Amino acid sequence: MTVQPKVVIVGAGIVGCALSDELTARGWTDVTVLEQGPLFATGGSSSHAPGLVFQTNSSKTMTEFASYTVRKYAALTLDGQWCFRQVGGLEVATTAQRLAELNRKHGLAASWGVAGALLDPEQCAALHPLLDAGQVLGGLHVPTDGLAKAVRAGEAQARRAIERGARFLPHHTVTGIESAGGRVTAVATDRGGFPADVVVSCAGFWGPKIGRMAGLTVPLVPLAHQYARTTPVPALAGHNSEALEASKPILRHQDRDLYYREHGDRIGIGSYAHRPLPVDLDDVAHPSAGAPSMPSMLPFTAADFEQAWADSQELLPALARTKVEEGFNGIFSFTADGFPLMGESPQLRGFWVAEAVWVTHSAGVAKAMAEWLVEGTPRTDVHECDLNRFEPVQLAPSYVHQRSCQNFVEVYDIIHPLQPMEEPRPLRVSPFHARQRELGAHFLEAAGWERPHWYEANAGLAEVASIPGRGAWASRYWSPIAGAEALATRERVAMYDMTPLKRLEVTGPGSLAFLQYLTTNQLDKPVGSVTYTLLLDETGGVRSDLTVARLGPGHGSGERWQVGANGNLDLDWLTRHLPDDGSVQVRDITAGTCCIGLWGPRARDLVQPLTETDFSHQAFGYFKAKQAYLGNVPVTAMRLSYVGELGWELYTTADCGPKLWDTLWAAGQSLDVLAAGRSAFNSLRLEKGYRSWGTDLTAEHNPFEAGLGFAVRMDKGDFLGRQALLGITEETVSRRLVCLLLDDPQAVVMGKEPVYVDGVPAGYVTSAAYGYSIGASLAYAWLPRAAAGPATRVTVEYFGEQLPATITEEPLFDPKMARIRR
Ligand SMILES: Cc1cc2nc3c(=O)[nH]c(=O)nc-3n(C[C@H](O)[C@H](O)[C@H](O)COP(=O)(O)OP(=O)(O)OC[C@H]3O[C@@H](n4cnc5c(N)ncnc54)[C@H](O)[C@@H]3O)c2cc1C
Repeated sequence: MTVQPKVVIVGAGIVGCALSDELTARGWTDVTVLEQGPLFATGGSSSHAPGLVFQTNSSKTMTEFASYTVRKYAALTLDGQWCFRQVGGLEVATTAQRLAELNRKHGLAASWGVAGALLDPEQCAALHPLLDAGQVLGGLHVPTDGLAKAVRAGEAQARRAIERGARFLPHHTVTGIESAGGRVTAVATDRGGFPADVVVSCAGFWGPKIGRMAGLTVPLVPLAHQYARTTPVPALAGHNSEALEASKPILRHQDRDLYYREHGDRIGIGSYAHRPLPVDLDDVAHPSAGAPSMPSMLPFTAADFEQAWADSQELLPALARTKVEEGFNGIFSFTADGFPLMGESPQLRGFWVAEAVWVTHSAGVAKAMAEWLVEGTPRTDVHECDLNRFEPVQLAPSYVHQRSCQNFVEVYDIIHPLQPMEEPRPLRVSPFHARQRELGAHFLEAAGWERPHWYEANAGLAEVASIPGRGAWASRYWSPIAGAEALATRERVAMYDMTPLKRLEVTGPGSLAFLQYLTTNQLDKPVGSVTYTLLLDETGGVRSDLTVARLGPGHGSGERWQVGANGNLDLDWLTRHLPDDGSVQVRDITAGTCCIGLWGPRARDLVQPLTETDFSHQAFGYFKAKQAYLGNVPVTAMRLSYVGELGWELYTTADCGPKLWDTLWAAGQSLDVLAAGRSAFNSLRLEKGYRSWGTDLTAEHNPFEAGLGFAVRMDKGDFLGRQALLGITEETVSRRLVCLLLDDPQAVVMGKEPVYVDGVPAGYVTSAAYGYSIGASLAYAWLPRAAAGPATRVTVEYFGEQLPATITEEPLFDPKMARIRR
């Protein structure tokens, strides 16, 4: 018999309860849940959550979490009482922009497997007769949405866990996390200690406090949110029994930041229409010691509700005959990017968090956490939610505060996929920033970095006039200048700032063996080789794709590698897998270095005169790296290209960055060199079929499905994830990432749209762009293999319109790689 880990869960809110159920269902039954308040109305956010569950979300992961929550709670009862009422969800539009957004959302729902229908105003009013149809332009109805009874669902799950051996201890306040040798060992409470191999903090908005006990920054902000109930609505008299509470769909009026549900014959109103009301954790009362039984409920600030009340009476005229009877400002968690926090502390093994989770996603998050803990890998891709996704700059308390408050403000806003947060900016700039500003760079932001998307200085390029226009949504954060930059890259030579891409240095005598085991491709090649390779998890899912350069003897360490990675999660993954013997070191060198991608047919003409190093094709082949001087600047040059043109990634230290830019810029003048931005880059990479991890594929996909089988060397010896790939080939997979060409070249889509085969939703778009060189609109999409054959006709739903498209062979541009290898 295997020894069970001792698990302590902090908090018996909906998340702690759901996790106890999911863990014990998987055989981890030595589970103790410590709760500072009483059971199960503990005083936390779940105790008073009205429990509206709208499943549709722009994130596939979050939608799946919500759908699982619906399925699970709909099947639960507590002493014969319901835990989930499937009354449906109705989101209404009162503006043309919102109506368009609901069309888009309808598409998102279809992409992620949630059935919904677009309704006209009369149909909306038929479903929810309190609505003034005259105020409404239309609605999105999702019949499977509904109301979760959070305390009841929590208790029902807790009882199942208790039957399997778990214990729930109320009135136990966690006061410390104990550890030895970098591992958690016990949890201290006001009533004594509890030994633990695994601690999961499910403390909701108290998370940062528990985190501090473990030396961990938990980047969430507790914010108050108003919820009020009316006096009885005459029109609802006799509609709902006390037991069933509600029969009409839950309702969202996002143009006014409001939502509604029935409480018998009363209406409950939730408002995000007020100023952000951040709460200092030290001001939150403890549930014991004579404090209020609901520390997460603060007094109602009526002045903040005035506009919400006026807007509510306008949408639901029957409310004019009622009053606000009661209300409160309820506290729950917000994060900088709106996603939950899930995962293990990078510093303290065995200390996990599952926080900033809505009731809506609670069961789905708990399931993924349990899979992660028990099986080693969650079955749903969680990279958007991973606790370790943040860059250090994103953990600054002022950043977390400002962005979390902003997320409260924007929670119901229509957010464009490219829309950056406005503040605090700029946070991180590359050494080329001043030059880019001089060239009129239009910056967007990612991971704190300012990234040029196009340059106004290129407005005069002759190619601009030939760039076709596009629809209003796709035109946002875009300019035809980007198209000209793409075309000019294929004609001449362009400088792309690649600095924001994460770079890691791996050194030490054990580094070859370390990298060989963690990645799929053959890295045992001579110094100066660069290899595209994949990080897999145990299940064979692609955790990341890397470009690994073997740079040779390090500073006495014997080996030095530069790893081009996707983000902080890669650093976290490599660090977690470091051998204990100290034979390998991993260092994030992103901030201290910078990179220009110099690409285009004239790239060699530009760079060769600057250096004594031979940059000819014979001396400096594709996927090779060299140290060189370009003028006065020492660089590591790697012959790679994500845009499909001849060229090099040129790395130097940050101090030499401006000099590198100026050197290349001056040398390129006679060649009409230009600076080009991310918008052009994205189009060029898609024409070449280069996948972007996190968008085109995630840990849910294996390499063969994603078209990355070429980066897997099954015969190189053992590597992490290899076992799971045995027997899988590109021919045996059940789904594929395919390339679509849209019939209408001007119909540019943005990603995440549903793809229909024979009129039925069969998959979804990952990335899309207009291909300027091929003169067509293209998209990558996941489809079942049976439907993924070349020339298959499909449609892509975009704002309610079905756009015809054809699956095509890829890549669309230069499939023989003639332009790169010359
Ligand atoms: C007014 C309002 C309306 C909302 N409406 C909705 C909605 O309609 N739909 C939706 O999906 N979500 C809604 N939410 C959000 C939702 O309520 C929360 O996100 C969710 O309940 C959080 O669950 P949790 O288990 O993480 O946290 P909680 O329910 O807060 O549980 C955390 C538990 O940890 C315990 N704890 C903390 N510190 C300690 C300690 N030191 N020792 C021991 N125990 C400790 C607390 O006592 C608490 O019981 C709403 C929130 C509010 C405030």
